[in-house]
Amino acid sequence: MNKKLVVILIGPPGSGKGTQAGLLADKLNLYYFETSKIIEHNVMSAGKNDYVTLDRKKYFLSHEREFWRTGVLCTPAVVSWWVQNKFKELDGEGKNLVIAGSPRTLDEGREVMPLLKRLYGKENIKIVEITLSAEQTIWRNQRRRICELMRHPILSTRKEFLRLTHCPLDGSKLIKRKGLDSPESIRVRLKEYKERTFPLIQYFKKEGFGVGKVNGEQSVEKVFKDILKQIKS
Ligand SMILES: [Zn+2]
Repeated sequence: MNKKLVVILIGPPGSGKGTQAGLLADKLNLYYFETSKIIEHNVMSAGKNDYVTLDRKKYFLSHEREFWRTGVLCTPAVVSWWVQNKFKELDGEGKNLVIAGSPRTLDEGREVMPLLKRLYGKENIKIVEITLSAEQTIWRNQRRRICELMRHPILSTRKEFLRLTHCPLDGSKLIKRKGLDSPESIRVRLKEYKERTFPLIQYFKKEGFGVGKVNGEQSVEKVFKDILKQIKS
């Protein structure tokens, strides 16, 4: 018997939500739903003149790609549309989920949460906020690299990671993400994160979703344990 479960991890860039989502996916057999990958996949595969019409408004996907490149969040309505399409696809496959970084905004939350609630049930949706100071966010992101093959994030929070040139998991080369991790871009993303996340958390609480909080400045293992505790409570 498989109990339904959706875990939603919220946190600033560099809070390790991707790493934690990967660990949770392995431990609890969840589908790792990574919004940034879905956005990246969609912006990169968009043709020059591709557009989508949502609520009678036309959005050009080449504009979304430009937002994405410069570190500004993509249009919430478009992201929400991409995300909901993916949820429906996964629902068809009967999968439980761990979601990192979605919904990002109040508008996305209002669109996505009713759908998730309908598919999985409110009591089976666990939201965990991973907290990180501004200094830590900037420090971590400036040093962040990913592997070329699988995009494993290498958060250089320890000295030995800074010396790595290849992915410890698959041996592929470590690279910096183009444009996304420059200090200016990080500051823009952090400001956006703060402005948009606060009302989202208020919305979750008002709607009666369980929202837990975990200190993201601890070791990966400790953060993981704290998240598991939150999920089971
Ligand atoms: Zn790798």
